[in-house]
Amino acid sequence: MESSGHSDGSFKIPNIRFTKLFINGEFVDAVSGNTFETIDPRTGETITRVAEGDKEDIDLAVKAARDAFDNGEWPRMSGYERGRMIMKYADLVEENIEELAALDAIDAGMLFRTGKTANIHLCSHLLRYYAGAADKIHGETLKMSGEFQGYTLREPIGVVGHIIPWNFPSGMFFIKAAPALAAGCTMIVKPAEQTPLSALFCAHLAKLAGIPDGVINVVNGFGPKAGAAISSHMDIDKVSFTGSTEVGRLVMQAAAQSNLKVVSLELGGKSPVIIFDDADVDMAVDGEMCIAGSRVYVQEGIYDRFVQKAAEKAKAWVVGDPFDPLTLQGPQADKKQFDKILSYIEHGKREGATLLTGGKACSEKGYYIEPTIFTDVKEDMLIVKDEIFGPVMSLMKFKTVEEAIKRANSTRYGLAAGIVTNNLNTVNRVSRSIRAGIIWVNCYLVLSGDFPFGGYKMSGFGKDMGMQALEKYLHVKSVVTPIYHSPWL
Ligand code: NAD
Repeated sequence: MESSGHSDGSFKIPNIRFTKLFINGEFVDAVSGNTFETIDPRTGETITRVAEGDKEDIDLAVKAARDAFDNGEWPRMSGYERGRMIMKYADLVEENIEELAALDAIDAGMLFRTGKTANIHLCSHLLRYYAGAADKIHGETLKMSGEFQGYTLREPIGVVGHIIPWNFPSGMFFIKAAPALAAGCTMIVKPAEQTPLSALFCAHLAKLAGIPDGVINVVNGFGPKAGAAISSHMDIDKVSFTGSTEVGRLVMQAAAQSNLKVVSLELGGKSPVIIFDDADVDMAVDGEMCIAGSRVYVQEGIYDRFVQKAAEKAKAWVVGDPFDPLTLQGPQADKKQFDKILSYIEHGKREGATLLTGGKACSEKGYYIEPTIFTDVKEDMLIVKDEIFGPVMSLMKFKTVEEAIKRANSTRYGLAAGIVTNNLNTVNRVSRSIRAGIIWVNCYLVLSGDFPFGGYKMSGFGKDMGMQALEKYLHVKSVVTPIYHSPWL
């Protein structure tokens, strides 16, 4: 990478090397020759233009993936060999950690420091985790009634379309690609139109790792065109989608109306965090600021103290350039998201919630928003019901455990939840009562490659990460044979 860090913590924009589509092991222009700009959320300026894939390009990518699956070596080689190549891929990701972290910082506004210390490590962890699983995929032998025996084979599901969002672009790429690779699938990845750069770089690393041509294809483009061409494609066997609930519904409809491809959806959330009277307020406030838990229920005994400390913390919170090591919060990923968050904040004020801190943009250029806290929030306000996906926290007071559970569950989403308490009985009761896919107890947003992650209710179905994600990319086939002359039945 030609870029370098500076003593003041700033960072030169990396030299962007990959801007085309990656199909069948080659970087190619879109069939139409069209390109679109990808914007740096730090400034609102264009970083570069990338090839704009459309239906024709998806067709070419699917053809390459189909051929690699139907005739190629990848699904047919031993799990051990696949695992070795995926391990090599992990090493390359680690060797290029700065470039990947920098690409996510300029394209998505993610913190460069956190990219280097945690986020990109999750990518190599995911690759190694599934590399280790690749040679442990096996079926069962079944004793059947009568003179038959059976066994199951677990086979790769086929050609997979991964459609991913702009938050955490390189992580999302590997959350999808790593288990699918281990299972022996071939794939087309469509990164979000806001953040195509790291996916293209990841495709380049796949080639260096020796992953055969056609196994991973990356087609940048817009949702209604390139994305829809994936979900409605007749030759794609499965679509794995992460994004908003609204688009998830469109993906499922398109799958139903085409070839009934298998669908898994990781969708939006409105995750509650419940802070009980016995919690360590400082710890709870620190954790909250890190994740901006969108609905925060604080028990009445510590509510006032929590509000005061949260306000202090928010005022001292450093919003700034994601390359600055002191920054705690970078810009929002794009102008649309920036405008959406600000309009929710205005809505919250109009609905009568009290703006405790923040509430506005905090720089002349770029998409920076102050950490924003509302109090006097009511359950029926839009800021409590809708997913905002930005630094906006709604603080609400509750009295009893029963009330907290009821209010936490009063959402159509079920992605995650947090509990802060030292009481084990409360932990057990609340974690079992909340209808959400992951519960963080006295910690926040801890993600690990070995933990399944995915929602309940309208937050989707089908897990990412953990061994459950591998299952998503496998079919189970039963084979039945008669048994002749067996001494036992
Ligand atoms: P989005 O739904 O707008 O876009 C996600 C992806 O879908 C993009 O690649 C987009 O191009 C594509 N897309 C858009 N329209 C399409 C269509 N008609 N057909 C096929 N594909 C289409 O979401 P976003 O704004 O990029 O991301 C934010 C959302 O992602 C939030 O709702 C957030 O909660 C969700 N998300 C969920 C998880 C999870 O694990 N559940 C994780 C991260 C983000």
